[in-house]
Amino acid sequence: MILTPDAVRTETVGGVTITIREKIIPDSARSAKDQASWCRKGDPVKPCRPIGRSGIPMGVCIHNTGDIATPAATNPAEQYTRATWPNCNMGGAAVHFFVYDGEIWQNLRESEQGWHSGDGSFRRAVKENGPVICGNLDTVAIECIGNRAGSEETTARLAAYLLKKYGLDPATSLYAHHDFANKYCPAYILPHWQAFYDRVTALLGEVAAPSGATPFAPRVGETVRFLGGKHYVSANAKTASGGERRACTAKLTQIAPGGAHPYHVIACDGSRAVYGWVDAGLVAPVEKDKAAPFEPKAGTEVRFLGGRHYASSAAANPVGGERRACRAMLTRVVPGAPHPYHLIASDGSAAVYGWVDEVLVAPL
Ligand SMILES: [Zn+2]
Repeated sequence: MILTPDAVRTETVGGVTITIREKIIPDSARSAKDQASWCRKGDPVKPCRPIGRSGIPMGVCIHNTGDIATPAATNPAEQYTRATWPNCNMGGAAVHFFVYDGEIWQNLRESEQGWHSGDGSFRRAVKENGPVICGNLDTVAIECIGNRAGSEETTARLAAYLLKKYGLDPATSLYAHHDFANKYCPAYILPHWQAFYDRVTALLGEVAAPSGATPFAPRVGETVRFLGGKHYVSANAKTASGGERRACTAKLTQIAPGGAHPYHVIACDGSRAVYGWVDAGLVAPVEKDKAAPFEPKAGTEVRFLGGRHYASSAAANPVGGERRACRAMLTRVVPGAPHPYHLIASDGSAAVYGWVDEVLVAPL
């Protein structure tokens, strides 16, 4: 080794052990040269901002990068770490982990954002029924080095460990870089992504539920029933925000295992009934046939996911080209129409002003 890790830790998942060498880029690190439009000479070499909405990852994003030859005394994961910092040779990219054949180097804390998904700053849902998230803002990045079975297996173990640690469901929270950007990455893993995914879920030890009563174990991204009560600004806050919140259907957006108020829920019935961390006893399953679909009402703000807009709810042809994603006010609804929602951008831009398809509208 050339670098001295700040710390070395071992973790276990699925009956296997991984060793993580931490070499966290200091918050004070400044780029020695122009690396990218967002990372000029003298700029921070990482975003220095909390990940997710509160410093807790909402997903794991997998990348591949090319193999490199190194002397026997070192290895590519360490060399990519050096290239990021202090050598400033990664073109402005900053990732949480580099992985190579059993070797794991960590460059960013899991509680902070990286630069790896090239998807701008907007959030979006990329998994069916998944939370609305963004690659850079919300996910922990793993760079799997080379087209190598060993690197891929170590990546699967690290991904499984992270998903388990943060209570994340691989179905809604394990991402490929490709999910966020028009880039074929991870190039070596994407051709057999399902096999990779299956390996991660096997490591998580998912087995069929036993017969009989199954304990309610909601997952991030799931729609649940909030039974009414107090909500809090954090999972361990001592005092509630405001008074009693009424019961409603809500989206479970984060889980803090062991927290006093372990579930973060956001009302998804078009109201603001609840938005915060709540006690476990206040969250219950929604009966399947009563699961509330997202039915935004006129006069509420929504997230426009980007796409075409039309001059009327039944127009055959769109007005102009693709509109970018933005926050928008829902001004009218025509149920059953081809483009049932009329939106007006509410972020100060003119990104959208017209009728859009149902699938392009998501909760904020
Ligand atoms: Zn990538």
